[in-house]
Amino acid sequence: MALAYIGLGSNLSDNVDGHIVAPQAQLNKALNSLSSHRQINLVTVSSFYQTPPIGPGEQADYINAAAKLETQLTPLQLLDYLQSIEQQQGRVRNIRWGARTLDLDILLYNQLVQDCDRLTLPHPRMRERGFVLAPLTEIEPQLSLPNGENIAALLANCSMQGIVKL
Ligand code: ATP
Ligand code: MG
Ligand code: MG
Repeated sequence: MALAYIGLGSNLSDNVDGHIVAPQAQLNKALNSLSSHRQINLVTVSSFYQTPPIGPGEQADYINAAAKLETQLTPLQLLDYLQSIEQQQGRVRNIRWGARTLDLDILLYNQLVQDCDRLTLPHPRMRERGFVLAPLTEIEPQLSLPNGENIAALLANCSMQGIVKL
């Protein structure tokens, strides 16, 4: 059984048969999909955070969260499942870091370090992202990266400007 941490984000509503699914509902829907998988046990979910966008152009604020899960899936199987949830929830990949209905990233998978085409672990940009580290530190303040860096210490070096815990 592996222990994995997932980062969730959304800043775009989806229109499902005339019903508007807003960012907070996108995250709740994704969490339901995660916990419905037979080989995933959702252990902890952080609060939701409203965070300013870092991507290109004018974008709405994001809703971000982090989740801790136990899983029997391999890292790539987990990524496949996360990407299938993103697809189900209307993720369109166009502009890099553009607005999206749902982003599910694997932050950590045990203390695994890997860098292949589809998957880099730990997530390569988590160290400097307040919107990732704030929810992650809330649920696991003593957590460290494989290189020994503590996530709470990394968070202390991040800008928290505009980040609001909901
Ligand atoms: P960022 O990676 O900066 O958060 P993003 O989440 O918007 O950007 P995506 O468009 O969701 O990027 O993903 C681009 C590719 O990143 C995916 O196709 C996936 O194969 C790859 N990837 C590499 N490492 C990871 C990881 N740890 N978690 C999720 N996707 C990853
Ligand atoms: Mg991302
Ligand atoms: Mg992603």
